[in-house]
Amino acid sequence: MKYDVRPEVLDFKAYSPGLNIEEIKEKYGLEKVVKLASNENPLGTSRRAADTLRQWASSSFRYPQAGNPDLARAISKHLNVSRECIVTGNGSDEIIDLLIRVKTQPGKDNIVVCDPSFSIYSLQARLSGVELRKVALHDDFSLPLSGMLEKVDQQTGLVFVTSPDNPSGVATPGSVLQDFASDLPKGCLLVVDEAYIEFTDPIDAFDTLQWWSPQSNVVVLRTFSKMYGLAGLRLGYGIMPPWLADCLLRVKLPFSVNILAEKAGMAALQDTAFVNATLETVRSGKAYLSDQLERLGCQVTPSQSNFILFRPPVPAQELFESLLARGVIIRPLASYDMPERLRVSIGTEDENMFFISCLEQELGHV
Ligand SMILES: *Cc1c(COP(=O)(O)O)cnc(C)c1O
Repeated sequence: MKYDVRPEVLDFKAYSPGLNIEEIKEKYGLEKVVKLASNENPLGTSRRAADTLRQWASSSFRYPQAGNPDLARAISKHLNVSRECIVTGNGSDEIIDLLIRVKTQPGKDNIVVCDPSFSIYSLQARLSGVELRKVALHDDFSLPLSGMLEKVDQQTGLVFVTSPDNPSGVATPGSVLQDFASDLPKGCLLVVDEAYIEFTDPIDAFDTLQWWSPQSNVVVLRTFSKMYGLAGLRLGYGIMPPWLADCLLRVKLPFSVNILAEKAGMAALQDTAFVNATLETVRSGKAYLSDQLERLGCQVTPSQSNFILFRPPVPAQELFESLLARGVIIRPLASYDMPERLRVSIGTEDENMFFISCLEQELGHV
């Protein structure tokens, strides 16, 4: 037999990350290509992180410390959360995978998610052979919390929500999530994926850590990929009750967070100038893009994040392809079951203006 493997594996396709700048330059013979597709930081990598990477490059022959205690301590100080509650991972993707494998039993437990939601929740559940229950988002993209509660039963190990959500940019107030968590049955954990929380305004209205305690049934996921500009280094973490952190650390591959990611992450946490500059770039870029998209006849969903979901007045997939040919990469959303919409990440002023001028040329005649 050619594919003698676990049957779950054969249902998978390799993750397709979208197109990169070099491929598009070559395909369309372009000099300038702008990528606003993956919600990366518009200002690039923080200077302090980049300097630290250079400084530590020649230490790459060393193994990192298992469990990254220095980094966990730095995060703990930054968030004012006990060190025992922090688990670092190779992106928050790794924490999602660990939570599913540690908390839920195949063939017995189930996981409740929104539909659509971030693909990693359902992919890792499927790979683990754990039942997945999906609840459709409301039409305004708010979370279907009462519908989720209806799907939850005594065998529900984990409920995943994203706030602010991707691709809508809609954030759920912290008080609402707190009430939701307290309605879950004993033994069921609420996972709040806060990959974009640093972009919310006012953050106090949304930040789950405002009310979180180590005794609560809530896990918060954060990442260095967006606000901290380190997507390519792969660094994220979870904040969770100490007993759960202990279990994750027992089974986590010991060196999944590499030594450069660890050092750069610690430097990025210190780089408040970079964080403030990013916030200002995203704030002004979001206002500009929202106005211009509406002027061009697009329906814009108000965003609490570093990207904007919009519905163009023409077929979205065709518009996506015409923009590609002009050198602008944004994100089509067929895989999120929103084929009539597109998502654009907020870029630098120059990138945003280039996107709008290309869009204007495409939509000018409608
Ligand atoms: C980008 C993103 C993440 C971050 O994943 P990493 O593995 O930390 O890069 C997590 N969740 C959502 C919903 C995201 O959009």
